[in-house]
Amino acid sequence: MKHETCCVCDMQFSIPDNVYKARLDDGKSFYCPNGHAQYYTKAIIPGLQKRIRDLTASLNAKESNRFHWKTKAEQLARRLSATKGVVTKLRKQYLKKGKK
Ligand SMILES: [Zn+2]
Repeated sequence: MKHETCCVCDMQFSIPDNVYKARLDDGKSFYCPNGHAQYYTKAIIPGLQKRIRDLTASLNAKESNRFHWKTKAEQLARRLSATKGVVTKLRKQYLKKGKK
């Protein structure tokens, strides 16, 4: 049960959970025991919850993409470092041969 207070007469009353969730989702009116219409305002802006879900999904996708490219950059940095080591080793061998 969800406990509410009427915004008009301040009477306290309870709403079954299923009715509370339904009114929260659809924004339709319900009434206090004195007959004052009530509604939850977050459903007033149509599509707001969908927009939040879409933006969250988009953010998660971007985060996943960022992680992929960060991992790829780290792999390339390790390969570059290894390649630099090989080049340095070959350069030293070449210079050593040149001195003989
Ligand atoms: Zn009331």
